[in-house]
Amino acid sequence: MGENARHDYGRHVIEMRRKFAPWLESEDPVLAANSILLVIDRTCALISRQIFATGEDFRENGGFTERLSSARLEKRDEQAAASGSPACPKCGKPMRKVVARKGRNAGNPFWSCTGYPECNGTRSFQ
Ligand SMILES: [Zn+2]
Repeated sequence: MGENARHDYGRHVIEMRRKFAPWLESEDPVLAANSILLVIDRTCALISRQIFATGEDFRENGGFTERLSSARLEKRDEQAAASGSPACPKCGKPMRKVVARKGRNAGNPFWSCTGYPECNGTRSFQ
């Protein structure tokens, strides 16, 4: 939840308090209790809308970890391009140095396309 949402909630709560003050502070306990229930009901509706909006935002933009990974990969590709790495033989994008994790070349470095996984271009590292 951002600062703006917190500010909006605070303003909303103060507004509801002002709006329902005559009933909330009523001498009649039934009237006071009913107005408290009404405020609770409105707060629940507000929270439901916020949960729905958060879900929609997640569907559209992904979660924090996903956006963080994406930003890091983008920066890593920029760094690869700026470091004078070779161009991919398949698509021409800059390549990044990676180390093979498995197979007969496990532990050995090689150039991998920054377009991976869309492009699987590689070059041997010398
Ligand atoms: Zn490529």
